[in-house]
Amino acid sequence: MRSGSKAHTRCDDIDVHCPADGRLVARVPDESSEAVTDTVRRLRAHQPEWEALGPNGRATWLRKLRDWLLDNERHLIDVLRSETGKPRAEAAIEPALACDLINYFADNAGKFLADERVKPHGPLSMTKRLIKTVRPYPVVGVITPWNFPLAMPAMDIIPALLAGAAVLLKPSEVTPLSAVELARGWSEIGAPPVFSVLTGRGDTGAAVVDSVDFVQFTGSTPTGRAIAVRAAERLVPCSLELGGKDPAIVLADADLDRAAAGIAWGGMFNAGQVCVSIERVYVEAPVYDEFVARLVALVGSLRQGDDGDGYRIDVGAMATHAQRDLVARHVADAVDGGATALTGGKAGSAGTFFEPTVLVDVNHSMACIREETFGPTIPVVKVADADEAARLANDSEYGLSATVWCGDRARGEAIARRLEAGAVNINDAFSNLFALGLPHGGWKQSGLGARFGGEYGVRKYTRQQAITVPRGPAMKRELLWYPYA
Ligand code: NAD
Repeated sequence: MRSGSKAHTRCDDIDVHCPADGRLVARVPDESSEAVTDTVRRLRAHQPEWEALGPNGRATWLRKLRDWLLDNERHLIDVLRSETGKPRAEAAIEPALACDLINYFADNAGKFLADERVKPHGPLSMTKRLIKTVRPYPVVGVITPWNFPLAMPAMDIIPALLAGAAVLLKPSEVTPLSAVELARGWSEIGAPPVFSVLTGRGDTGAAVVDSVDFVQFTGSTPTGRAIAVRAAERLVPCSLELGGKDPAIVLADADLDRAAAGIAWGGMFNAGQVCVSIERVYVEAPVYDEFVARLVALVGSLRQGDDGDGYRIDVGAMATHAQRDLVARHVADAVDGGATALTGGKAGSAGTFFEPTVLVDVNHSMACIREETFGPTIPVVKVADADEAARLANDSEYGLSATVWCGDRARGEAIARRLEAGAVNINDAFSNLFALGLPHGGWKQSGLGARFGGEYGVRKYTRQQAITVPRGPAMKRELLWYPYA
């Protein structure tokens, strides 16, 4: 517990509602600081035996979790839909991605965590073997948002567990049920007790920050900033995956059908509630009208609503009423300022739906261009050329990812290298997220710390240790030891 901070006592239980129809789905506890410290103590006690299993021993348990995910896939998709109101196709991606993550990280953990030998250099280190090794942070705290209740925790807990850390997960209070299922899976496969889930609101998350050895946070930029300050007081490292306002640039030589289809999906997937959603589009003037017509036709044809089983809808509900209201505010602000919604533009008649929306005649000072909307809206801006597009794309406090749509790939790549973003996808949306060997993480206000993906994704949960060993038979004393000659 942080000195001077107030302990969080357990508050009212948390009601979890299905946002598509408002029904109460479950009630979970709002765990106290004491529950957090007790859990961290237990995890800490079991972590050494977990670390001692080595990467391959730990990978065996993760693969058993993957098999459990596959055996329980249908149930998990139902749970996901009940707490998010997503279409079935979107919910189904989450357990599939979790399995993919396990396959990738379990297959590579041994390589990513291997010792490195360093060549001695200079006379002082000449006689030593120099070894660079890594050791895990004992307890990693993972705090996650509500947009992908299974995939988001999986992205962090899988590499952290493979690194040898014990993990305490605090899921979003809006969508805690999939995380609780993950903990059930871990216990049903009989794995060592090095993974726990505690539900709760922000205060429970703060107690996690006060207790663990490394904080992995995914969520909004203001919360990330508060967590960084809190972790700094204990000198505990944190890695932050934060908000975004991702631009798309459409060049005049782009395949406009592909660009419109990719941007419609990249802006509307998960009802726009994705950190890497396309939230602004800059189109070169010669193809602006043609592109907008295609985009509006596509977005206007998307199916929305509550069809019961989620098979026949494309765009689901917003996670909360507050999120839907924020989207409505951004759209109203744009329309008041002279923008036009060419399709959509208002809240749905039931639940927390907001109609898939394309906005034109927006300007660069509007909230829909400057702030994260996190909803099914795509504002489109006409630009003179690629230079103006790149300048406006970079004119943002965020820098998570971006897309460039072009015919000439070399030119697209050259523009990508000018953009201030942690990832740039050319002629595609979200592809970097599924390329697990690539680093993922934001620049500027979109993130801080080591990246997800590749060796970085596992090694960030470890501390480096340097070991030196004399070479050959040990001498009685080294050249530099007493007495000085
Ligand atoms: P949020 O910041 O409100 O909450 C995220 C988590 O932090 C929740 O579990 C919450 O209970 C907890 N929390 C709140 N206050 C806390 C505190 N003071 N100390 C510790 N924990 C605290 O975010 P959200 O609304 O759940 O999620 C949406 C945001 O997440 C968006 O900004 C989105 O861009 C971002 N996001 C980023 C990525 C990425 O990879 N960069 C991925 C998904 C979502």
